[in-house]
Amino acid sequence: MPSRLLDALLLAMPLPQNLEAWRQHLKSQLPYPIQGAQTLFIGDPTLVIVAFQHDKVEVFLPAIQWRHHDIHTAKPRSQGIIEPHNGSLEQLLTLVEETIATRLKSFHECSCCGKRSAPEVLGSLQGEPVCRDCIKGRRVLF
Ligand SMILES: [Zn+2]
Repeated sequence: MPSRLLDALLLAMPLPQNLEAWRQHLKSQLPYPIQGAQTLFIGDPTLVIVAFQHDKVEVFLPAIQWRHHDIHTAKPRSQGIIEPHNGSLEQLLTLVEETIATRLKSFHECSCCGKRSAPEVLGSLQGEPVCRDCIKGRRVLF
C-alpha cells in the first residue's frame, strides 16, 4: 500500500546493500566528476544520470527541451531500468556507457574554436553552432 508516509520513510532509509555497492562502484570507477547522492549526475556537463531507488536503478540520458531560442528545460529521457534481482552491475555499467556515448554524439563542434560542447551551451551564429565562450568573446547576442 503505497502512501506518502511510506515514500518519505523509504527516501530516508539507506539503500539495500547490493544497490549501495553498485552506487559506490560507479562513484569510484567512472572517470568523471559526479554530483548527487541517491541520484548521481555524472560528468560536467552531465553525461548520464543514474537514479537509485530501493528496488531498482534507472538510467537517464540528459536531454534538453528548448522552450525559446535561449531558454531550455532539462527533460531527462529514461534509457532503461536495472533491477538487482534479475540484473547485474555489468548490465548497469553497459547501460551507463551506452548512454554516455549517445550523449557525446549529441555534442557539436563550435564553428569558431572547434571545441565540442553540449547542445544546450551552444548558440548559433549565421546558422553555425558557436560555443558560449566564443559568443561572449564576440559580444554577439543570441
Ligand atoms: Zn568556441
